[in-house]
Amino acid sequence: MELVTQSVTVNSIRDEVRIVCMGCIHHGAAGCDEKLADQWYDYILRKPNTYVIFGGDLVDSIHERDPRYLDEEVAPWTYGKKWGGTLIDKQYHYALEKWRPLAEAGKILWIHAGNHEWKLKTTSSRDLTLDWSRELSKISVKAGFGEVPYAGLSALSNLFIRNRDHTSSYRLTFFSNHGGGGAQSDGGIINKAMSMLRVYDVDVALMWHVHRKAHQGSPMWSLTDNGKRVRRERLAAVCGTFLNGHTEGVGSYAELKGYLPQLLGPLVVHIKREISRAPKSDPKRSTHYTRIFVSDAITTEGQEET
Ligand SMILES: [Zn+2]
Repeated sequence: MELVTQSVTVNSIRDEVRIVCMGCIHHGAAGCDEKLADQWYDYILRKPNTYVIFGGDLVDSIHERDPRYLDEEVAPWTYGKKWGGTLIDKQYHYALEKWRPLAEAGKILWIHAGNHEWKLKTTSSRDLTLDWSRELSKISVKAGFGEVPYAGLSALSNLFIRNRDHTSSYRLTFFSNHGGGGAQSDGGIINKAMSMLRVYDVDVALMWHVHRKAHQGSPMWSLTDNGKRVRRERLAAVCGTFLNGHTEGVGSYAELKGYLPQLLGPLVVHIKREISRAPKSDPKRSTHYTRIFVSDAITTEGQEET
């Protein structure tokens, strides 16, 4: 478990912040929807107040000597020497180049390892996530932003959102992890997501791994330190994949296990600080709360969010 502290700057404290939760991308696998991933990288880069959390399984991390390796499961861009020497070296550099512009723009909040990177770490003594975190940090710091924190398999994180002149700020707390286990039923997936909110006292809980998209909000009424009623929004989300397990001409793990076809793409967590006067009907209500909601508008290539 890692502890991460990050901050982002907005013009006005009420400006909406978007966090694109991108994991299970599996760059290097034949079924990875590279165009869709590119579209989201571009979206994050272009859109103000928009950031990314990387949720692990970012590259497929399966090399030629791995018992899971199959020729037909490897993406055509890994042929030849353009991206490096070994398959893992190619995947490392390919992903790094995809993310370089994001690091230069200070857009990466933190980066997780998934079970695929972890397997490589435990069997081949190479920690791709740590290597990326180091390299992306250098790029980001050089461009005048903070580091790109290594978030391991799971992390508790503070995200401070501040306005430009630092007169106002608020904090959002996260538990995020690549996740594990084999939940596949609709109910099982939501139960797994909501169980994170039961044991981690955070605003947002994120997981990947099951290659599904699902989320549930859990609003609460609470009391502030000075005794006012306050609305607290919480969110648990399972954040999707970019790996199409049913690609034509490719046999896959998804087929082997009988997994159903899924919508691809990430979930986007939206954060909006609401500041208003307490209503006449409830004068003791706190005037501040943070609205947290989800969208996943771009799910296939060629679709644009409006
Ligand atoms: Zn995955």
